[in-house]
Amino acid sequence: MSATESLRLRIQATELELDRLKEELRQAEAAEAEDLDAEASEGQPTDDTPWKWPLSADEYERYARQLIIPQVGVPGQLRLKKASVLVVGAGGLGCPAAAYLAGAGVGTIGLADDDVVEVSNLHRQIAHSTDKVGMHKVDSAIQFLRSLNPTIAFRAHRGRITSETAGAIISDYDLVLDCTDHPTSRYLISDACVVHGKPLVFASALQTHGQLMVMNYPPLPQGDPHGGPCYRCIFPKPSPPETVTSCGEGGILGPVVGVMGVLQALEAIKILASGNLGREGFKREDLGPAQMLLFSGHVAAPFRSVRMAGRRKACFACGEASGLTRESLGSGSVDYIQFCGVVPAVEILAPEERISPTQYREIAEGSTKHLLLDVRQVEHFGVSSLDGAVNVPYRTLLREEAGEGIVPAWMPPDLPATAPIYVVCRQGEESQYVTRKLKDSGLGRDGRFIGDIEGGMRAWKRDVDPTMPFT
Ligand SMILES: [Zn+2]
Repeated sequence: MSATESLRLRIQATELELDRLKEELRQAEAAEAEDLDAEASEGQPTDDTPWKWPLSADEYERYARQLIIPQVGVPGQLRLKKASVLVVGAGGLGCPAAAYLAGAGVGTIGLADDDVVEVSNLHRQIAHSTDKVGMHKVDSAIQFLRSLNPTIAFRAHRGRITSETAGAIISDYDLVLDCTDHPTSRYLISDACVVHGKPLVFASALQTHGQLMVMNYPPLPQGDPHGGPCYRCIFPKPSPPETVTSCGEGGILGPVVGVMGVLQALEAIKILASGNLGREGFKREDLGPAQMLLFSGHVAAPFRSVRMAGRRKACFACGEASGLTRESLGSGSVDYIQFCGVVPAVEILAPEERISPTQYREIAEGSTKHLLLDVRQVEHFGVSSLDGAVNVPYRTLLREEAGEGIVPAWMPPDLPATAPIYVVCRQGEESQYVTRKLKDSGLGRDGRFIGDIEGGMRAWKRDVDPTMPFT
């Protein structure tokens, strides 16, 4: 017998052995499954003893510790089971909020987000994990929530909520949690909740602070003074866009946003379990004055409540004369981006007033005296900066008095009057405002070049130094 023939025979014999083992495994698995079925049916209703309790055996066990709380009880648990909650944003607020809602047995949980998981999310967005980086946040969160409670339903809305889609999504739920982090989405979600008659639990968090409000509860029709105030009643006008700091810019401590998300879940559970939602004659006043909860993670007494006024008669969304309707909202007649004054890309400077990161590298390596002004926050500067850069945070610069004859304190005294000034920030937006301000204040009058590095430190990392640590 040749060597190849012998090998062929051995392969054939091994394949037969493999088939036999597979069959053996199949039979063993079938037997095991039968045993499990028998075990699972213990304590379950049989034909002889029909199940006469409103919840299933698994539900009694799963919610045992919550069921015996006077504010919940079996009626509350049944209301939670029937309820559906939409969580907009599967991030720092949405992850803990959705986890506690799922744990509590809210029957249907919808998650809306258009983002994917990044490593920098993981310190606070506890439904995601390292192995899910790059995955859609909604899918990652649902995977986590389903393992927490497989007995409830989940709905994925992969995409950003817009004027056009908000109505169709929100109208399907009993209550909405705003877990987003941008003014445009806050106004849009609040408006949609007003016109579709849904209570809204709002929270926000930045650095070590947080805010929590229950809005539009009870969700009575527009113009009804017994309904709860909406986001616009409290904040009729958005903050100027240059004062809005995102978590990416300002930073956020994980437990701070976690606390706020958990409190959102608590408010939602309270509303849903109480049975007040939809109860005839239920008024805002029955709950006592509306409160805004303020949290500060770095003081001795971290919680503080501020009394909120009720609905404003003149409110654009929920007021007496409001022209906002489901149709007008859905048609996109309210421009939230314009309303909040957020311009997608800042284009203040002309191309000749900007240099690229590679152009700056040449300047930095040359011998021309110049000033590099880094306008990021001190903490960002502390993580990584370019050689010789002078750090003056953007906000400090904007507040600074400027004008003819005023020499800023940060200006090095030995800098020649014609030495160029290059401004750099995180991604090339603030640097444009600063460049414009420095020029307007006359610092460029001796023919000095003042310009910014296009794309900021992000572009520097991308084009020049990929090792630069970045927060
Ligand atoms: Zn309002």
